[in-house]
Amino acid sequence: MNKKIIVTGGLGYIGSHTTIELIQNNFQVVVFDDLSNSSQKTIARIETITGEKIIFEKVDLKNEIRTGQEFSKHKDALAVIHFAAHKAVNESVKNPLNYYQNNLFAILNTLKWQYELGIKNFIFSSSAAVYGSPESLPISENNKIQRPLSPYGNTKKISEEIIEDFTKINSDFSAISLRYFNPIGAHDSGKIGELPKGIPNNLMPYITQTASGVREKLKVFGNDYPTKDGTPVRDYIHVVDLAKAHIKALTRLIENKQEKPLEIYNLGTGNGFSVLEVIKSFERISGLKLNYEIVTRREGDVPELFATTDLAFKKLGWKAELGLDEMVKSAWKWEQNYRNHNI
Ligand code: UDP
Repeated sequence: MNKKIIVTGGLGYIGSHTTIELIQNNFQVVVFDDLSNSSQKTIARIETITGEKIIFEKVDLKNEIRTGQEFSKHKDALAVIHFAAHKAVNESVKNPLNYYQNNLFAILNTLKWQYELGIKNFIFSSSAAVYGSPESLPISENNKIQRPLSPYGNTKKISEEIIEDFTKINSDFSAISLRYFNPIGAHDSGKIGELPKGIPNNLMPYITQTASGVREKLKVFGNDYPTKDGTPVRDYIHVVDLAKAHIKALTRLIENKQEKPLEIYNLGTGNGFSVLEVIKSFERISGLKLNYEIVTRREGDVPELFATTDLAFKKLGWKAELGLDEMVKSAWKWEQNYRNHNI
């Protein structure tokens, strides 16, 4: 049976972990990636872990004609999993047009060509950012969608609206949008993980880079929030758990089990951890004392976000299995491997 899947952004953080899971579930993967925030070395890392070859096409999905050419080469694919997007929140605030242009042209061209060429299944990499500053917790898929706090988040909200409109008029097209909470961690081989270009914006890579001496000190943005210890609470989820959810969603689409043209699922663990709890977990696991200081709040941060993931369990048969310590341990293993062995 043909099991070809196109993974856009397949060399990025979540894309690469999902590519591994796909291969391990006997899918054949074609990666479309423009290498704007990823490394070609990731191909060899994926191949070492899985022992399988992937097909790689360097393509800028903003370019409609080029995108069409690449999709034409792989029109026998069963589905597209669309990760390709810029994702730095701060950068998106500074350069909104770049974010809207990149993320929205990419999804528009992807949807247009895949549909035209007969690839009728689509999985979208969305974000809890679409809930804005949530009115109630835990956040379910029925929570109100609000204007996200950044242009990055808004590209996710607009993309979901595009998919919704598109599925409405094309009854033969099926989509699942997966709203990620805070993905962290790395593959347990230690051969692949998050690799932010430049100074990381996110907590976990900032912690591991501080511990490995690449950054001097972690700034904890505020300890005066109305949370358990004053620092913001997030629903951190292991990237490998997240990757596995994509296989479940894909299987549901391929087996035609979806109940609506567009289904939406939260992907989190349902547990909230504060910044200080993440630091404590890191110190316990690494045996190191982390250099950090409390500074003022970062603009746009909400006090508390965590999901209810009942729907994903009920419909996809998926739930997160790995806890915070496993996330932290794998992220630290990857950081050390990467720094010490230049893999
Ligand atoms: N955070 C921090 N210092 C950093 C980066 C992040 O204190 O250098 C905090 C941030 O304020 C938030 C949490 O860590 O409360 C998670 O931030 P991240 O950027 O990883 O994800 P977000 O929830 O903003 O998408």
